[in-house]
Amino acid sequence: MSLRRERALTKLRKLRVQVHRDGLPAQPNVYHVAALTSALVEVLGNTGDSKRASAAAEYLYRVATPSFRATGIEPKLECKRGCDYCCRGYVSATAPQIFAAAKAIRAQSLSYEAAVARIGAAADTVRGLDWKTRCALHEPCPLLVEGACSIYASRPLPCRAFVSFSVNACRRAFELNTNDIDVPPIYGNVRSALENALRAAMKHHGLPLESYELDGALASVLAHPDAEAAWLRGENVFAGVDVDRSADPGSLLQREIMLDTLLAVASGETPAHLEGQAPK
Ligand code: SF4
Ligand code: SF4
Repeated sequence: MSLRRERALTKLRKLRVQVHRDGLPAQPNVYHVAALTSALVEVLGNTGDSKRASAAAEYLYRVATPSFRATGIEPKLECKRGCDYCCRGYVSATAPQIFAAAKAIRAQSLSYEAAVARIGAAADTVRGLDWKTRCALHEPCPLLVEGACSIYASRPLPCRAFVSFSVNACRRAFELNTNDIDVPPIYGNVRSALENALRAAMKHHGLPLESYELDGALASVLAHPDAEAAWLRGENVFAGVDVDRSADPGSLLQREIMLDTLLAVASGETPAHLEGQAPK
């Protein structure tokens, strides 16, 4: 290994400790995200663990909480328990996040049967609907119980990033079926950084990168006794579930470039366009 690469990996290890402890900073750069990628590559590479996909999502969520907090805008948000206009729309997530949500649902032994029944009914109702039609239905998320998320600690990234400076804007958007919500862009940046780190680690291990519609994906996973291990073996446990195809080809290409950059930096390489930008 070259001395240069060895130094890059040493810096990356330091950043990994920092990100593990404090989360991503409010304006993460490619090195912070690559440090998180490298940690997630390791979690997903633990082949002795048949739950390593959900473990990767759980690792990500532990980092997500301080990362969103680091933006400093939480006190200005109007989000609170019982306010649930945002839990009646289209949600999609990658497979590790679906498995983490399923694990949390399975852990609710008392309410498990009722949750599975609600999820199955919701999946049948929303199957095949595009984002706009799904939102216009106002169908509550089957995980919403008495106005609160029943898997709050394991909710997917889109739910974590969906916050608002104005509950009135949320109410208006809900009533008029628009997307005109006062979501702080900085939360979107943090969400993208977290999602990119997870997807890059999944790409490293050759895992499918799609996002699946939440209700249908959960119904499929909960109907399969060993879905996570089967998916890790390469089985398509999401056959028949709606895949989120909202990203245009241009942004998918940009995403691929970003994932390759993160994997290169996570392995100690310095892509040409990052020359001179490495952390001190
Ligand atoms: S995003 Fe909007 S609807 Fe959701 S909790 Fe926050 S203020 Fe309420
Ligand atoms: S998973 Fe939880 S936070 Fe997300 S839409 Fe459902 S109830 Fe709301």
